[in-house]
Order: sequence, then C-alpha cells, then structure tokens
Amino acid sequence: MQAGVIAVQGDVAEHAAAVEHAAAAHGEPAEVVEVRDAGIVPDCDVLLMPGGESTTISRLIRQEGIDEEIREHVASGKPVLATCAGLIVCSRDAKDDRVDPLGLVDVSVDRNAFGRQKDSFEAKVPVTGLDDPFHAVFIRAPLIDEVGAGVEVLATVDDRPVAVRDGPVVATAFHPELTDDPRIHDLAFFPEREVVA
Ligand code: GLN
Repeated sequence: MQAGVIAVQGDVAEHAAAVEHAAAAHGEPAEVVEVRDAGIVPDCDVLLMPGGESTTISRLIRQEGIDEEIREHVASGKPVLATCAGLIVCSRDAKDDRVDPLGLVDVSVDRNAFGRQKDSFEAKVPVTGLDDPFHAVFIRAPLIDEVGAGVEVLATVDDRPVAVRDGPVVATAFHPELTDDPRIHDLAFFPEREVVA
C-alpha cells in the first residue's frame, strides 16, 4: 500500500509512523511517500492530511497543483485521513479567506475555536467502530459547527462533532497521530477488515 502524507507543512513524521503501524497490523506494509509536489498523489492508495497551519497548507497545495490531485483521489473513492488543519483544508467552509477549502468533507468549521480553553486539551473520546475510547489530543482545534446530511459523526465532545466520515474521508478535530494508538488510521484506511492476529 502506498500512503502519501501531504508534507508541504505540518506533523508529517508522526502520520508516517501511525500509518505504518496500522498497515503492519493488517499484514500489509505501507510504503510512505512525502508529497510536496504534483505527480505523486495519483500513485497513492491512501492519503494523510496532517495537522499544522491550515492557511499555509492550503496556499502551498494550491500553488503546487496538489489540490486538484487530492480531489481526484477522493472522487475515485480512495481513502483520506485528515486531522485538525487537514480537516480545515478538506472542509466545505473554513470562514477564512486565507483557506481555499477543498470541499471534500461537507462540514463548516471555525478555526481555533474548539474547547473551553482555546489552546490545548486532551479527552478520552468514544468513537463509533472502536471498542474503547480514544485518547484524543486537541491543539488549537477547529470547531465543526455545521454537518451536511451525508456526513457520519463518529465522535463528539460536549455534543460537538470531533470526528466525522464523509464517503472515503475520515476527518478529526484532534490529532490521532500524536498518540501511540493507530486505531483512527486503521478506521480510515481499513474500514472493513479484521486485524491480522
Ligand atoms: N489552528 C490550526 C489551523 O487553523 C490547526 C491546528 C492544528 O492542526 N493543530 O490551521
């Protein structure tokens, strides 16, 4: 499986480790490629859109022509996991002129707006499809304030969606790549398959 991490900016190495971990559990080694230029995404089976700074990621993927390739990847039904800034970039509306959202996840978001304290917090979050709660790390997380009819909410905190699935895209307001737990990567990339014992 070829896994592309959009690597123009953000926490790339952590996603690479998490997807390798998840894929190995299925007996299917992941070959991770860092995507900084056009021409790589078409060869990828799955994509990761990391956390970081959404205004920068949005500008750079557009500048490099990677944005259209990500849209085509999703249009052909291939999986994406988008976390935090990645969720903002994949959203329908980010309410910020500096972000040109890809419209791949039918949600609207408020940047840096989630949580009582606007910075960082951690929570044990039950997630649809996981047996035990996930230890979720939130860092200046986006608030999902509107969810389209075709979007499945996978997890909430204080009644607010923090993980969603829209077709082949799973998006989280938190950072599953920052804990040593590959279950969200697993959920995104191997939705139908049993872990090899
Ligand atoms: N606040 C960042 C943004 O709006 C996202 C934060 C993150 O990815 N941890 O881009």
